[in-house]
Amino acid sequence: MQIESQIQDVHFGEGAIAKVSAILNQLGVRKVFLVADEPAYDVSGAANELETLFADYGIDRFSGFKPNPKLEDIQRGIQQFCGSNPDVLIAVGGGTAIDLAKLIGTLANHQADPRKMITGLYNIEKNGPPLIAIPTSAGTGSEATHFAVAYVDSQKYSVADSRLLPSHVVIDPRLTHSLPAGITAASGLDAFCQSVESIWAVGATDESIRYASESVHLALANLLHCVQHPTPEARMAMCRAAYLSGKAINISKTTAPHAISYAITTRFGLPHGLAVALTLGEILKFNASVRSTDCTDPRGAGHVQARIAFLLELLDQPTAERAAGRIQSLMESVGAPLQLRDAGILVEDEFTWIAEQVNVERLSNNPRKLAHRDIEKILQKIS
Ligand SMILES: [Zn+2]
Repeated sequence: MQIESQIQDVHFGEGAIAKVSAILNQLGVRKVFLVADEPAYDVSGAANELETLFADYGIDRFSGFKPNPKLEDIQRGIQQFCGSNPDVLIAVGGGTAIDLAKLIGTLANHQADPRKMITGLYNIEKNGPPLIAIPTSAGTGSEATHFAVAYVDSQKYSVADSRLLPSHVVIDPRLTHSLPAGITAASGLDAFCQSVESIWAVGATDESIRYASESVHLALANLLHCVQHPTPEARMAMCRAAYLSGKAINISKTTAPHAISYAITTRFGLPHGLAVALTLGEILKFNASVRSTDCTDPRGAGHVQARIAFLLELLDQPTAERAAGRIQSLMESVGAPLQLRDAGILVEDEFTWIAEQVNVERLSNNPRKLAHRDIEKILQKIS
């Protein structure tokens, strides 16, 4: 199955990984730089499929990196990449492997210090080689975005540039069949939250809302199956939900639940999707009460309320309160923590700390203005 995409070569469907051979031929590749999350590479079955193929090419492998891309791993990758001189990058794994490959390939082509490029002191000006993104989980949708997350001294940065968008995407749902329930739940919730946030984002367009609404619909119908009784059909649907969530936020970007989540993940080690889902219901209720005095969307509070109403329809709930309950029951059914204390976050001082970590200026993509005290109140409600 081919999913329409204007700027990426996308192959989607069971067995799609066999297309990698044709892509390498078409690109005239001699040497491959593989960025692989090793356990996922082996367990997903990707290694089985790709290793025979790699026998025909020179190959350099980069692995052994930590979850959530760190500057140290990016620097190590760039060093290895520069000594390798490959014609293509292949990323196999979740969001971390794909974001690392985006940054390694692109930043290696610049003279500037990677730290300065990630922190925004220097702009990206040149393309890296083509990147074939092969996700092994259904979650971040990183294969469809022009962003890459990177942590420098525990501070989270999001590098954004059109040159970071992978040139080729191969989504083979079979690679997700062996995912354990916990990872299926966390990554699936990430996709779901990204799409929900995308619908109310200030950056949303008609196009991003189309992707996001199909993604929400697919996640609601399939995530629980994928966690409890996975079938190939449900896995395929969640892969599509994740890819579409990436397409949606590639346009709209994410909002408050994502912004708040990064401090929770860094400090308490809670997986990204679970950290984001924690505040989603409360932020939905918060955003639903938007007024012209605190609306950040230039299209006005009425426009935002219309989009929240559209979201309530998608969630099949009459009020924001009930919709937040629907989100909670989805989280509960897939085994996600509903409250901070379930995630081991007990001390009230921590709420202030988490709130202070959020760059409120960067929250301008949330349709309702949020101050640090609003974030603290939201954290209290889910304590
Ligand atoms: Zn996310």
